[in-house]
Amino acid sequence: MATIHPSVDFRSDTVTWPTDEMRAAMASADLGDDVYGEDPTVAALETLAAEMLSKEAGLFVSSGTQGNLIAALSHAQRGDEAILGEDAHTFCWEAGGIAVLGGITPRPLPTDPRGRLNLDQVRQAIRGDDPHWPCSRLILLENSSGGNHGAAIEPEYFEAIHTIAQAHGLRTHLDGARFFNATTAQGVAPTAITQAVDSVSICLSKGLCAPVGSVLVGSEAFIHQARRHRKLLGGGMRQAGVLAAAGLIALKTMTQRLQEDHDTAQQLAQGLATIRGIHIDPQAVETNLVFFDLTEATPVTPSALIQRLKIDHGLHIGGYYDRTLRAVTHYWIQPPQVERLVEAIRTVLTHPSSG
Ligand SMILES: *Cc1c(COP(=O)(O)O)cnc(C)c1O
Repeated sequence: MATIHPSVDFRSDTVTWPTDEMRAAMASADLGDDVYGEDPTVAALETLAAEMLSKEAGLFVSSGTQGNLIAALSHAQRGDEAILGEDAHTFCWEAGGIAVLGGITPRPLPTDPRGRLNLDQVRQAIRGDDPHWPCSRLILLENSSGGNHGAAIEPEYFEAIHTIAQAHGLRTHLDGARFFNATTAQGVAPTAITQAVDSVSICLSKGLCAPVGSVLVGSEAFIHQARRHRKLLGGGMRQAGVLAAAGLIALKTMTQRLQEDHDTAQQLAQGLATIRGIHIDPQAVETNLVFFDLTEATPVTPSALIQRLKIDHGLHIGGYYDRTLRAVTHYWIQPPQVERLVEAIRTVLTHPSSG
């Protein structure tokens, strides 16, 4: 049953196929109608996620975007305001969902180079009670920080934000699309961070290799609301246990091996650092996202490099912005493939016009 993959895909960890173990579990999963609350595999996944993240309850949702949107709808009302980083996924990459569908005003604030909000700016952004103003209600956080080279943010930051939020009656939601990458990189228990936020959503379908899905966790009352909002958004799924079966393996076993992806990312970063025409600081690579720049002197444009790698070498990487490119390591990337990518980039930059 193992699939043969002719090309090697570094564009994202979303490209990960389910493992053979996942496919077997999906084929034999116990199923029921989950909108009736009768799918035992979905229930097991929700319970396990809640346990691992130390929350009362969980909800299986279709994507990270849906998890974040449901969380915002469940924490805030129309006319409320959500404080978030100006480079947060929820602000930049989710089609403006909280505003479009929730009537929630985003209040973007600058972040530091590791994706953290400035605590004084957060305090200043919290509004008092005045009929002119939207009501400050929610702080949206992210870990690891996708817009900041996958920085793994420490528990103390979340505790500090939590203290501010509590003092002003605000809720906090953590977009933990790559949360286990963040905890693995720091060697901290997931609960060290999740205890400092009201809700968390994690992606099963990125580095954890499940084909589809995210889990949202929080208090019983919050998940009760969230279940209604999932239905509202058309996210109530029926025999979703076929997907949750892969999610269970994602949580149980794939969360335990993410250091391997961080090691291959480090291998890649150090290899790239030896290539003339590339700028990268390997120390800035904390998890599985490797961002690097083509220097101004490089005779190849980013899009030409991407094309040459794809056509001549069967290697896929992603463009990001300007001269910045991104390569992501994951379960289906092994050290020899990292070596292949480094040498292919070296070849393209050394022989820019041959083809
Ligand atoms: C991928 C991602 C999401 C959204 O996940 P989808 O499943 O693609 O909707 C949210 N936040 C961050 C930081 C992500 O990287």
